[in-house]
Amino acid sequence: MGNVATCPLILVSDALPDYRDAMTTLTFDSLNPATGEIVGSHPKQTPDAVHQAVGRAEEAAAWWAALGPAERRRRLLDYKAVLTQHLRELAELIHQETGKPVGDATLELVLTLTHLDWAARNAQKVLGRRRVATGMIGLNLAATLEYLPLGVVAVIGPWNYPVFTPMGSIAYALAAGNAIVFKPSELTPGVGVRLAELFAESVPEHPVFQTVTGLGETGAALAADPRVKKVAFTGSTATAKRVMAACAENLTPIVAECGGKDAFIVDADADLGAAADACLWGAMANAGQTCVGVERVYVVDAVYESFMRELSERVTKVKAGEQYGPITMPGQVEIIKRHIDDATKAGKVITGGPDSVRAPFVDPVIVEDVPEDSPAVREETFGPTITVRRTRDAQEALSLANASTYGLGGTIFSRNARRATELARLMRSGMTAINSVISFAGVPSLPFGGIGDSGFGRIHGADGLREFARPKAIARQRFAMPGMNLTSFNRGPAELERLVRLVTFLHGRRKR
Ligand code: NDP
Repeated sequence: MGNVATCPLILVSDALPDYRDAMTTLTFDSLNPATGEIVGSHPKQTPDAVHQAVGRAEEAAAWWAALGPAERRRRLLDYKAVLTQHLRELAELIHQETGKPVGDATLELVLTLTHLDWAARNAQKVLGRRRVATGMIGLNLAATLEYLPLGVVAVIGPWNYPVFTPMGSIAYALAAGNAIVFKPSELTPGVGVRLAELFAESVPEHPVFQTVTGLGETGAALAADPRVKKVAFTGSTATAKRVMAACAENLTPIVAECGGKDAFIVDADADLGAAADACLWGAMANAGQTCVGVERVYVVDAVYESFMRELSERVTKVKAGEQYGPITMPGQVEIIKRHIDDATKAGKVITGGPDSVRAPFVDPVIVEDVPEDSPAVREETFGPTITVRRTRDAQEALSLANASTYGLGGTIFSRNARRATELARLMRSGMTAINSVISFAGVPSLPFGGIGDSGFGRIHGADGLREFARPKAIARQRFAMPGMNLTSFNRGPAELERLVRLVTFLHGRRKR
């Protein structure tokens, strides 16, 4: 067991009482995956503690919702400033808990700030009350639509981007007027705790954003609480199914952001240097522990050799422990090793191999001609490895890219914007980048999420705001329609006849 004193970075804000210790006796340690050193020690919060947090969140949610959009915007922009002022401290903490380089942690935080800014500034425009057209038959009505807060939103987060990913739900849900109970991954609890502490500097009155720490059971207790009105989950497809089963008990809706097996397509007219550069970064950055990381590469025959030359040259300059950090989750090393063993047995090694695994670090591995039905091509690896395959043309590349149970992101490199856009639209995924990798994640107005085994629902953008709100529709009768009182037992045959004539006029003409 660790000791809080071993974690100088974790400060407890005095703005709010620290509820975390109230119900717990046991703690767990978060470790630096590169060194094994203890970064911090945190309570394993019991189901009782979680339920108390949800109870507090329910009250806080009512207060936060009543505050109104203008004041919420002001508070969230203030929170953005507080996070910015603590950027270096947070980057250091992310670095310690995940092992990723401080530069990458800083980039993660900067992206988070742009999303927080967008959510705060756009919530009122996207969700606020507006009049909508009523149509000819509703001529005597005035109709309005608005999106109201849900109440308490539970966010269950991952460790690979411990700020950017959960804040994709937290920022948008807060902007939509909800209170948050956040359960960070057991590998990155410290940064999760700090996010909530810093929020209390901007919103000291009520615990609108709380973090509960613990292992899987803590998350399970949170998802099962009937007062939670939505669960935003990021993690593996298998755990998403378990969380969904728990949510089914209370009909709690869920947004599930699961893994991916993203494809990278290089067309004949691509800028091959730029493509190789982007492919390598997309696959190896963060040691491949990116849900929208590049895992499968399809290159058209005409440029295959040239592309591989560019890729092979560049990969020699990339090493684990230098350009990227260790594998954060110890258990993941075995999965990566199994995929590398499988790929190298069945395919032709371009770079690395089984010896690239020197836990907790894994050097880049590139293997070509791996059968499409092998685990290395079908299952999420979540490591710095790629399989590369030659295809007849872009169409065949697209068919292979789409033959996956996952459907999260993807990339297309081509100089022909129209052709690339056509391919992107046909790619079976939630997001596609053209001539860059992962660029969609940095555009706050674009929704982020997948299909199939990659999950459902969306974070980010207007869809991400609406994900954490419920539409409220109101129709007000302005005057009684003369001779057309249709919703009354006094309705007569003449009124029905007029209705049929009107409908025939409006909808009865066939389009040939
Ligand atoms: P999990 O899906 O197991 O965990 C994700 C989150 O869910 C964590 O906060 C975890 O808590 C929590 N959790 C675990 N069990 C439950 C439960 N029964 N009810 C509620 N919450 C629960 O992912 P892992 O971290 O174990 O990683 C496994 C694989 O998932 C990786 O190899 C990778 O392929 C994929 N993954 C994908 C991510 C993405 O960005 N899409 C992110 C992370 C992982 P705790 O950590 O305390 O167990």
